[in-house]
Parts: sequence; C-alpha cells; structure tokens
Amino acid sequence: PYTGPSAEEILAKRKEYLSPSLFHFFSKPLNVVDGKMQYLFDENGRRYLDGFGGIATVCCGHCHPDVVDAIVKQINRIQHSTVLYLNHAIADFAEALASKMPGNLKVVFFTNSGTEANELAMMIARLYTGCQDIISLRNAYHGNAAATMGATAQSVWKFNVIQSGVHHALNPDPYRGVFGSDGEKYAKDVQDIIDFGTTGHVAGFISEAIQGVGGIIELAPGYLPAAYGSVRKAGGLCISDEVQAGFGRTGNHFWGFETQGVVPDIVTMAKGIGNGIPLGAVVTTPEIAEVLTRRSYFNTFGGNPLCTAAGLAVLKVMEKENLQENALVVGSYLKKRLTELKDKYEIIGDVRGKGLMLGVELVTDRQQKTPAKAETLHVMEQMKELGVLIGKGGFYGNVFRITPPLCFTKEDAVPKKSRYEIRKKLVSRLILDFGQVVCAFGA
Ligand code: PMP
Repeated sequence: PYTGPSAEEILAKRKEYLSPSLFHFFSKPLNVVDGKMQYLFDENGRRYLDGFGGIATVCCGHCHPDVVDAIVKQINRIQHSTVLYLNHAIADFAEALASKMPGNLKVVFFTNSGTEANELAMMIARLYTGCQDIISLRNAYHGNAAATMGATAQSVWKFNVIQSGVHHALNPDPYRGVFGSDGEKYAKDVQDIIDFGTTGHVAGFISEAIQGVGGIIELAPGYLPAAYGSVRKAGGLCISDEVQAGFGRTGNHFWGFETQGVVPDIVTMAKGIGNGIPLGAVVTTPEIAEVLTRRSYFNTFGGNPLCTAAGLAVLKVMEKENLQENALVVGSYLKKRLTELKDKYEIIGDVRGKGLMLGVELVTDRQQKTPAKAETLHVMEQMKELGVLIGKGGFYGNVFRITPPLCFTKEDAVPKKSRYEIRKKLVSRLILDFGQVVCAFGA
C-alpha cells in the first residue's frame, strides 16, 4: 500500500515550489501512485481505466513488464550519452525504427521530446532548402520552443515568440472548416500562401495527419496529397508530426500520414515511442540528413542507451501483442458505439478519429456548433468519479479525447451491464459510463 504524502500535501508543495503555470485535470486532482497496463491507481488503491494515457506517453500499457525489464537491464549495465562512444542500443533501435518507415526514410536522429524533434525537423528543412518559410496549420500543436511555438497555432499555447517565417494555413477540419470534407479545397490555401506570402520558394510544411491537442481532427481526405504537391513544387520538404498519431495508434496504419497515402520527407515522433520514457526521433532520407554534417549537431541525452532500449522493447511488444491490430479492432468498435450515442444524444455534435485516437465533440446547439465547454468539463469529472479517465482538447475545450494505451480491450470498451451494476465502484467500461453521464445533458 501507498504510504507517501496525500493529494492535498502534494498540491500544497506544487503550489509553493512548482511553476505557477502548471495545470491539472479535475477539481479534485488525482494522485496517481501506480500504473498497470490500461489502469491507474490512486493513493487509496482505487482503480481507474486510463482512457487518455496513450497520448500522455504510454503506448503498450503502464509499466509493461517487457519494457520495464529492458529498462532495468540497461540501467544496471550502462547509462550514458551515446554521442561520444559506441553502444548497441541506439543502433539497434534506429535500425528497427527505420524498418517501420516507407521509402528511403532511414536515417534517425534521436531527441528527448516531441518539441526537440520538431525543432530539429524544421531546422533541417530550412538548411536543406536555404529558405525560411514554413507552413503549418491553424489549430496545430508542434511544441513549445522557439520554432515549434511559432508553428503551433492556438493562442492558448503561445507566449511572445517571434513569429518569424511561419504561415498558418486554413485547417482542413471536416466538422468546423468552411469546405467540409473537401481536402483539395483547403489545400488551395497552401498554394495561396506560397503564391502571395512568400518568394515562391519555401522550406517546408509541417502537420499531423490527425490533430491531437487540436481535438482529434482528421485532416479532410485528399488534403495532404494536394498540400504536399504544392509545397514540393515550391521546393519545400514535407514534415509529418507523428508524436500522437504514429506508432500504430490509428489501427489501419502504423503512421498517421499513411491514412492520407503520402510519404513525407521528414517524420517526427515522441510520446508513446518510449512508453513513458523521454524519447523523441526525427527520421529522414540519407540525402536530407547530410545537411547536418555542415556543423556539429550535439544532443547529450538524445538516443541514450536507457531510452533507446525502452524504444526497442516497445516495438517488440507492439509486434508480439499485435497492438496495432488491437487498436483497429477495439477502436472501431468503440467508435461505432460512440456514434450510436451521437444518434441518441443531441449534445454530441461529432464523433471522429481512427483506431484508438478518438474524439467526441460536445455542442449545446448542433446547428450553430456552439461549444459545450462547461458540460465537457462536467462530464469528464463525472467519468473520473465513475473510475474512467478521458482527456479533453480542441481550441474550445469541448472535445473528449479517447486515446488509451493500445492494450485497451473490448472488455474495457464494451459495457457488460450486469457486471457494471455489481461493481459500480470499479467501472471499467467506458461506453456505458459515458452514455449514462452524457444522458444528463441529452434530455
Ligand atoms: N507534436 C505534437 C503533435 C504534440 O501533441 C506534442 C505534445 N503535446 C508535441 C509535438 C510536443 O511534444 P513534447 O511535449 O514531448 O515536447
């Protein structure tokens, strides 16, 4: 049993010693002391089904024994920087990662976070092309350092960064966007930015295939092929940010960009790839990678043995346990059930996403699409009381993000009414709970 400080004591310390800008979910924040696969446990041993851990970094399950084992073995052996000396862990993981990539994407740079990966990717694009201009999408989140904060396009995440050389294109958002699901029409804005806002030459384009922080927005079909076409005609490189949508999460595909049938020039990733261990990566072609030989690129912990051993273990678990397939099967089922809820409850404006990257947007008026922000918060709190954790996102904070570890089972996604009634305190069936809670607003 847990014998550490209480939630209140931790909160008091946070208030005194940590950043005043830190925020937490829930009016009574959760003190998470243990994790096991798709479950989290609080200080009283109460179990919660983690419907959001995937995005927060866990890919194959909290404390997956194979990953823990790989980490412990490595830390007992050596943990160091791999910049100066040889070690097999970084080479083995790079090889395994490259084998998951299409085309000639086979050179890997390791970083410690998604921000660093995107910073590096944008710098590579600028070096390679000799241009500055980068196009990203409105509603995007790509990180919180200088270049990536510029590429991020939601005011809530922006400080007074110098917004140089980044243009934000119309977001191809099928639910709220002006052109509905017509990807090519939105892509025309990329061409317009190039024609009217640049010299006609650009460094590149960066986007996710499914926006995570932005509220699980699947870019309208046909968008990436058309946008990539315009960018490449202008000499730019196409960067796919796979920090959230990558690593099998979308079910049908291993990478988010594959859902749009494109092959980027640079791919970035982080979060789930280390199953909670700080690890990011940039993958590109040998030709593009060459630009970094002009100077020295140094990253003390990038690709260190501990993190890359974890990364390799994650890939092995994904294969051994068929987690991509599981994301497809369980995610499709979950989406079908959520869509059925939409038919029943007016407050659900949209259900979207792929695999185990799902979004449910709440609106108080379906015609006006008025964001139901307060209701979203309230439902999230109620779900937590029932023992189910889900996230939220979107510019208006009215989109549930359901992104569990990929080991989520149908058992978790599907309500079994009798068991639910017997064990109300240990609810582990998202749909039923969700439906019951949403019901309060649907009437
Ligand atoms: N890209 C995307 C799509 C993200 O969601 C995030 C984090 N929310 C980042 C980049 C930045 O990653 P990190 O927080 O590891 O720097």
